Amino acid sequence: MSNTWKPSTKAVHAGTRRSQYGEVSEAIYLTQGFVYESAEHAEQRFVASGDDEFIYARYGNPTVAMFEERIAALEGAEDAFATASGMAAVSGALMSMLKAGDHVVSARALFGSCLYVLEEILTRYGVEVTFVDGTELSQWEAAIRDDTAAVFFESVSNPTLQVVDIAAVSALAHAKGALVVLDNVFATPVFSKAVEQGADVVIYSATKHIDGQGRALGGVIMGTRDFIRGTVEPYMKHTGGSMSPFTAWIMLKGLETMNLRVRAQAATAQAVAEALQPHPALNAAIYPGLPAHPQHDLTMRQMEKGGTVIALDLAGGKDAAFRFLNAVEIGLISNNLGDAKTILTHPATTTHQRLPDAQKQQLGITPGLVRVSIGLEDVEDLIADFRQALDAAK
Ligand SMILES: *Cc1c(COP(=O)(O)O)cnc(C)c1O
Repeated sequence: MSNTWKPSTKAVHAGTRRSQYGEVSEAIYLTQGFVYESAEHAEQRFVASGDDEFIYARYGNPTVAMFEERIAALEGAEDAFATASGMAAVSGALMSMLKAGDHVVSARALFGSCLYVLEEILTRYGVEVTFVDGTELSQWEAAIRDDTAAVFFESVSNPTLQVVDIAAVSALAHAKGALVVLDNVFATPVFSKAVEQGADVVIYSATKHIDGQGRALGGVIMGTRDFIRGTVEPYMKHTGGSMSPFTAWIMLKGLETMNLRVRAQAATAQAVAEALQPHPALNAAIYPGLPAHPQHDLTMRQMEKGGTVIALDLAGGKDAAFRFLNAVEIGLISNNLGDAKTILTHPATTTHQRLPDAQKQQLGITPGLVRVSIGLEDVEDLIADFRQALDAAK
């Protein structure tokens, strides 16, 4: 692979390992183990394995290695470790680097499972976690201490679409020697420049835009070679959250088309957000690509586009949100995102149901909020469908 290749070339070719058969499409090495030529060879592999030498699929596998190299090349990271799901990546990155007594500062607006890991699991193991409003730099500055080991945030939060300034938070964290761990799912690898903006560790749920077709769970942790091979790999390979070779093959195929899919989805999301605003049934259409979004300028600097997800806040609360969801014909009521199919979610009663009402309110997860992940359907069909469903919700 050439380092000067543009992202769409890397997305198709980077990391390819071709067997002696010269296959065009990446091979699925559906094997747990690997045969050694001799006892001496086995002994030597366990001491030090070369780049093309594998031991056991929980440690690594040629198909998984292709995916890891391809996504790392796209992100501009030195190395990657592929995981069984996005949450295996989030929990693996944090658990592998932290120990009892460490301090972490995290944005409060997080995906429900991320919040659970930080609030319920890390604290159980003696890690102190301080939550801040991720959009307020003064809160980060006040919370990050000399003994802070890491900061954690979603660059665009799920589901309220708050955008956090990666470069500014990274500068504050680095001044105190803290690692910047970024859940970058909503930015997508297509619009991400997270490494050059200062993130030390970049995480994706591959379930979302990388697969993009609703087939498989997966995740990936990226960072320096030292961090991935020295900190993450020992934790992941011994605790078992590695990606399966079959999933890696699905994700490799996903990466080939991701650039086209995500750019089309983001363009449709922008058009839908513009078309629905204003509508009498809506308090607001929340979308980082709209000039009215509080972090619109930052979004354009940081990722150039508004992403593939819109949040609609229906004025009539839960009843109106449910009428809207039930009236939509094209979009599906489900909870994935980044999919080719448009998917609608009511966070307050599903993904964020666990949270107490006061916390939902603090996070902007109102009873009327509907998260809309825009798919690859025709933009005019989607706009007409949302308009008739909003009329029905009034
Ligand atoms: C979906 C999601 C995850 C978790 O990913 P899974 O693959 O479902 O485990 C983590 N963070 C964010 C922001 C997500 O949207």
